[in-house]
Amino acid sequence: MQLTKTDFIQYLNCPESLWLLKNKPQVYEEYKGEFSLFLEKLIQEGYEVEGYAKQLFKNSIDLPEDASPEYTKTKLASDNTVFFQPSFLSDKGVFARVDVLEKLPNGSFHIYEIKSSTSIKKDKKHNHLKDACFQKYVLQECGYTVSKVSIINLNKEYVRQGTIIAEGLLDIIEVTDEIENLYSSVVNEINAAITFINKENINAQECSCLYKTRSNHCDSFSHFNTDIPDYSIYEIGRISAKKVIELVEDGNTAIIDIPLDFELNTKQQIQVASLKQEKPIINNTAIDKELSNLKFPLHFVDYETYASAVPKVDGMSPHKHLVFQVSIHTMQEDGTLTHFEWLGRSLELPTEMLHQMQNFTDSTGTFISWNAPFEIGRNKDMIAWLPEFARYLSYMNEHMYDLMNIFKEDYVDYRCHGSSSIKKVLPVLCPQFSYSELEVQDGTMALDTWGRMVSDPNFNEDIEQTRKNLLEYCKLDTLAMVEIYKVLKNI
Ligand code: SF4
Repeated sequence: MQLTKTDFIQYLNCPESLWLLKNKPQVYEEYKGEFSLFLEKLIQEGYEVEGYAKQLFKNSIDLPEDASPEYTKTKLASDNTVFFQPSFLSDKGVFARVDVLEKLPNGSFHIYEIKSSTSIKKDKKHNHLKDACFQKYVLQECGYTVSKVSIINLNKEYVRQGTIIAEGLLDIIEVTDEIENLYSSVVNEINAAITFINKENINAQECSCLYKTRSNHCDSFSHFNTDIPDYSIYEIGRISAKKVIELVEDGNTAIIDIPLDFELNTKQQIQVASLKQEKPIINNTAIDKELSNLKFPLHFVDYETYASAVPKVDGMSPHKHLVFQVSIHTMQEDGTLTHFEWLGRSLELPTEMLHQMQNFTDSTGTFISWNAPFEIGRNKDMIAWLPEFARYLSYMNEHMYDLMNIFKEDYVDYRCHGSSSIKKVLPVLCPQFSYSELEVQDGTMALDTWGRMVSDPNFNEDIEQTRKNLLEYCKLDTLAMVEIYKVLKNI
């Protein structure tokens, strides 16, 4: 069975899910969930960054994407010194396709790994150095000497002005010594991965995440752990792994079964109490106090943004978010509601949007958003790009209130499954409102749809209908806040 670099990354994150993918692909397909638009976008961005990286090399040859290891062998013997996408297969079935490979004068090789991030990731979920070790391992197994390894990634300081300059956009960072230090431990992990995927069976009744918190779980969790009930201990906000282990070992995987004397913090106890009493636990005094501090008019605001690895607009840097859409519902003290919305038609800084927004709200009242650090961060970016709006955007940030905070402590309903996301809170508080009928279902879908609409020459959907779908989605986000606010005012 072959092991690719992608497989190896998956193995490092979770051996069980890789085993399922390799040995029971039909079952894996059922549980892995949809290949997200977000991942699809990441892959496209990777190709785009690779395109610029190629401009950094001379005397190069671009091997076909599906070129075989045998074909690579013949090409490596040519006069070229740089090869894009050469592939290698070791005797043990470990396969690598290297982004860029340079033949050095002494006959050894320099591997370049291209990443669309602005730093070298070294975390548990994704470690770029381990990726590079994997490539080096396969080449060495195939009899080549690798004397240098570098990572090419995006320069976060780069600011686009007109045509992209590859030398400015990209950084080349040599990591030969770091790879050397990691190498033998990664080789051990590669060998362990080969052994694991070739096992005939693994324990199908449970996987290691049974003992880990929810942030570690993947979509295969329910496949492996069929006995876990609805309203499980994993939903408890910020529960520690230590407590999860304790509860699982005692056979208490349902919140309802947690013993009365089990130690939880106040917020967690409120969540458990909500489920046991089958009703929300509401701190009316705290909610009244919070809401009475808000100054009318109340502007319920939501941005949609488009972030790209390679900046698309002059003045922007890699991975910065471009605000392409806004919805604002403004409520006066007498309850009157007015609505403003704006949706960009092209990739450009939102100067016109800010003009119209300012006309609509002026620097008045309180701005209310859900997960306010996001809107505040976008306003800070726009202050830097469009300083003529600095006063207005600073006013917004200084008068921004995060409605989500109430659902972290003062209004806890077990039916939200331990989440304070607006998608979970809205159907519980206002079941008459729903996202399920909308064509655009979430922020990722919105950015993907808009990005394709304004930049893909092959976009063949109805543009006016697509704009209508995007406007409806963002409008519901702010209307949802209005309705939730009304519920909170009347409890
Ligand atoms: S839930 Fe965790 S251990 Fe289980 S398959 Fe997914 S990532 Fe692996």
